[in-house]
Amino acid sequence: MISSWVASTLRSRDLPVSREALDSYVLDKLGGIVSYTRQFSNFYKEHFKDVAPSKIENFMEFKALPFTCSEDIIAKPNWFLCVSQSEILRSYVVETLDERLKQISFTQGELEHIIDAVGNFFQSIGVSPSTKVAIVFPQEYLWGVPDLLSRAAKQCGADTTLVDQNDLDQQMSAILSLKPDVIVGSAQQMFFLSALLEDNRGSQTPPKAIVPCHGCVPYLFTEKARRLVRKAWGADLYEHFGITEMGFNVAVGCGKEDWLHLNEVDVYAETIDPQSGDPLNLGERGELVLTNIAAKGMPIIRYRTGYLAEIIKPECSCGDVITKRLKIFSSLESDEDLLNRPLVFRPF
Ligand SMILES: [Zn+2]
Repeated sequence: MISSWVASTLRSRDLPVSREALDSYVLDKLGGIVSYTRQFSNFYKEHFKDVAPSKIENFMEFKALPFTCSEDIIAKPNWFLCVSQSEILRSYVVETLDERLKQISFTQGELEHIIDAVGNFFQSIGVSPSTKVAIVFPQEYLWGVPDLLSRAAKQCGADTTLVDQNDLDQQMSAILSLKPDVIVGSAQQMFFLSALLEDNRGSQTPPKAIVPCHGCVPYLFTEKARRLVRKAWGADLYEHFGITEMGFNVAVGCGKEDWLHLNEVDVYAETIDPQSGDPLNLGERGELVLTNIAAKGMPIIRYRTGYLAEIIKPECSCGDVITKRLKIFSSLESDEDLLNRPLVFRPF
């Protein structure tokens, strides 16, 4: 659960585990990332020139800063860097809907931080040395998403297998023979596999948990997909949402409700009116705007994600009374839409 990651972060700074302490931690990080980028990022030196106060005193001051858009990153990704190229371990390429490319870069320290956060989440859902974890993602180079997930599961001592065959039937038979306790996979593949499972399950014991990941692949996990995955596997569902621009790890589900808990110690989330750009209140639906407050290599501030979302106040039936929660919305309804049209909401 994200609450354990938030709690361990606050405790490591000798802060109490409370909403008030988390708010002051976040405000401190927001001020820190603004001054850091003003000093080291060519893009933000220019972008914040004459508009950013020298010190961010409150959330409204932060919410008055200009947005960063996809276009800015596509145009000059290296302008965002706050470290030298030699300190970048891995860059990821994100393809936009109109087939242009965004390059997002991370230092080794940042990637290790992501692994720690995901490892903490795995541990909180019961991944241990006796757990078999299947990671269902397309093949990628070292430090790609499946590798990060695999390293996180191994941190918990788990027995980890990559299911990265190109063929869906081969993936299914690999999963059936592996009999994993936990399946972590791209939401898109989990959707396909769930549809296929109906005819293949036999008498197999269901896994304990399924973790469908969306955001870093541009397919929304809709209500319909959620229902199908739950029904097909009969396992607890821990949805994971993360975009590459924010270090993959934005929010995760708790298995109790269909709202995801925000990873507030690493990412600051807002919603805005997509037309006026004005900040919205908790519970109001608008465009999701994110800031990676833990970034070192390529921080991105007030990033317009193009996702339609709501953020609500804490207090979930899982017992977490600290972290705010997020839901991504879509008007996609049919399977065909789900598979072929990743997003319907792109205001820029
Ligand atoms: Zn919860």
